[in-house]
Amino acid sequence: MERVDIELIKSFEQLIKNSSKSIVLVPHTNPDGDAMGSVLGLWRVLQNAGLKVKIVSPTKYPEFYHWMDGHEQVINFSHHPKQSARAFAESDLLICMDFNQLSRLGVMKQLVESFEGKKVLVDHHPYPGNFTDLIISDITFSSTAELIFTVLQSTEFAAYIDKNAATSFFTGIMTDTGSFDFNVSNPNTFETVAQLTRMGIDQLDIHSKVYDNYSADRIRLMGFCLSNRMIVYPEYHAACMYITREDQKTFNFVTGDNEGFVNMPLSIKGIVFSVLFTEKEKYIKASFRSKGDFAVNEVSEKYFNGGGHRNAAGGELYASLQEALTQFENLLPEFEDRIKKSIK
Ligand code: 5GP
Ligand code: MN
Repeated sequence: MERVDIELIKSFEQLIKNSSKSIVLVPHTNPDGDAMGSVLGLWRVLQNAGLKVKIVSPTKYPEFYHWMDGHEQVINFSHHPKQSARAFAESDLLICMDFNQLSRLGVMKQLVESFEGKKVLVDHHPYPGNFTDLIISDITFSSTAELIFTVLQSTEFAAYIDKNAATSFFTGIMTDTGSFDFNVSNPNTFETVAQLTRMGIDQLDIHSKVYDNYSADRIRLMGFCLSNRMIVYPEYHAACMYITREDQKTFNFVTGDNEGFVNMPLSIKGIVFSVLFTEKEKYIKASFRSKGDFAVNEVSEKYFNGGGHRNAAGGELYASLQEALTQFENLLPEFEDRIKKSIK
């Protein structure tokens, strides 16, 4: 059986073929490796097929993804709103990737809402919103990158998937699975990786470009946070880490420097629920991770204006860091039973 409904795939293919202007690809705010891997991979494939394609990102993304094929042509909406609006005006097809609700676009939401052409969503989060003409959404995929690669393979565009595109798709899969540590319960993911490998990608090089590209300051910040900014709640099998604005100044923080911090407490014996709070100028960014059945997207939705996957979610709280920490402590008793059920 096909993993994705063939009728959906054919509709998607037809929308691309019907486009006579440009196609614009959009990742979510603060795009991660999967959002960028998906848009850059699809960009390369459609570009190879001779189509006009643009990428407009709501915000910038970490430097350790800047080596990726196509990075130079990504338009950053927050820096270039007029150029972004022009890219939308010149396009008749919009493809949203790796997010399930328009609020994930921040202020760029208006541009997508008022877009006059056809819209498609390609995503792997639960509860996809109804804001596009076509929805290709499936939570059984590790990543949007794996999903779009699988979809493309059943289209005429399969012939245009080259090593560059495969490298972008692999980056998406690798980062959304934490290097095959989570979101990999479906054997198809490994089959996809085998196919990408046959296309000549260099996994070690990709891994090194993403994960061995940090500053000394980031490693020092990590050590500092592990020593001074981590609170463990053994009775709730939970842990919390936080980074103040002051800490960010001390360690010359740049976007992406806190990547992966939230996963670290999960390596403590007995801990299955972890949160990271990063203090921003106007709000607190929250990141959640869990092991097993405990659904952190529910915690994020209920208390932190967010959402995401069962084991990886995020949100934002317009409050002080102290309030966020207190909010977290206060919700632990409510989820105690569900957390405990998650322990193997
Ligand atoms: P991260 O902790 O890496 O920022 O995000 C993990 C996952 O949580 C993302 O893949 C995304 O699905 C979700 N997520 C992160 N931030 C938000 C947010 O502000 N709102 C919603 N709805 N989901 C988020
Ligand atoms: Mn993703």
